[in-house]
Amino acid sequence: MTQPSCHVHINWDNFRHNISLLMQKGHTLMPVIKADAYGHGVLKAAAELEKAGIRWAAAGTLEEAAAVRDTGFSGHIVSLLSPVPDRSDVALALQKRLVPLIHNREGLRAVKAAVDKLCPARPLDIAVKVDTGMARLGFPLEDMEEVAAFLAASPALNPLVQVSHFSVADEPEEDDYTVRQRDIFSRAAAIMHRRFPAMRCSLGNTAGLAGKHSDPDDICRPGLALYGYNPLYGTSKEKECAGLLPVMDVSAPLVSVHPLHAGESLGYGRTYAADSERLVGWVAIGYADGYRRNPSPGTCMCVNGVRVPVIGRVAMQMTCVDLTDLPVPPVPGDTVYVMGGPGDAVSAQDLAAWWGTIPYEVTCLLGRNRLD
Ligand SMILES: *Cc1c(COP(=O)(O)O)cnc(C)c1O
Repeated sequence: MTQPSCHVHINWDNFRHNISLLMQKGHTLMPVIKADAYGHGVLKAAAELEKAGIRWAAAGTLEEAAAVRDTGFSGHIVSLLSPVPDRSDVALALQKRLVPLIHNREGLRAVKAAVDKLCPARPLDIAVKVDTGMARLGFPLEDMEEVAAFLAASPALNPLVQVSHFSVADEPEEDDYTVRQRDIFSRAAAIMHRRFPAMRCSLGNTAGLAGKHSDPDDICRPGLALYGYNPLYGTSKEKECAGLLPVMDVSAPLVSVHPLHAGESLGYGRTYAADSERLVGWVAIGYADGYRRNPSPGTCMCVNGVRVPVIGRVAMQMTCVDLTDLPVPPVPGDTVYVMGGPGDAVSAQDLAAWWGTIPYEVTCLLGRNRLD
């Protein structure tokens, strides 16, 4: 693979700041570092969690969970993305002390068959997922008696934690639905606790934690907030998640700077035409680097802390900005911040608004350019 010409910088000081802010909310935390820590790098993120004394982590695939273990993270590692596990998956989970998420009958049967064959010295910890209203993964409430009975008859399996996920905790006007999800979750937990009193519960994501939808003993699973963004941004509960610092910066060099005279056009489709004398610059990032091709008007980048508008059509590896209004005209080789950096920085939230998406997708896309 060729190297991208843009540069992704991860500010781990800010990550640590965000973790300590979340720890102050008083819940046990299971930080979510799936999908390569939302593009920030799962291995370094895991090492930071260990240093912060965090005892739970949620990875995506079982392979990602194993990679987290290999960093030396010593707590429980739940893998949130579990297809039906086969025997080698279960062997890996046993060997690395991983906690697969079991969310359907097929998974439950497969994991039991595998542990029965492997005869582990200690039971395999599993996370049991309950569907409380996302209708994605999980056992429905009405199956929980059967699940609990099945597990009670399977001593090689230990339900370590019951998990579910909120669908609209980031929309305070939908709180009725969130309350209903909490209710289903606690009824499922009551069924499980009759046979497994030590089982822990984990329901709240960032929005659930910040929006105070979590019981005091809930193990909360913040994701987005770790990376500095507030899922309650723009809502009536925005302040509950204030003080976070963004962790990812993305910059790229200017490759060409030149005047564009009145009447001249630029780029594919000639979508921009100068109506007065302009100074324009091409930045070495494009849609091949995850910088989306169809931003809304008003999209900016940042040069020396000052925002400059993106003009013309985003190309595969280059994007044009209008540099005319800068106090000091930049030259080729100067750095342009696509996201983050000093001054009036562009946030993942800004890019999300310009791209018609959410900050989660922005950091996942741009984070793929990381080289570490
Ligand atoms: C991604 C994810 C989270 C984290 O959600 P945020 O909104 O980023 O806090 C928590 N739980 C599950 C199951 C997830 O998939």
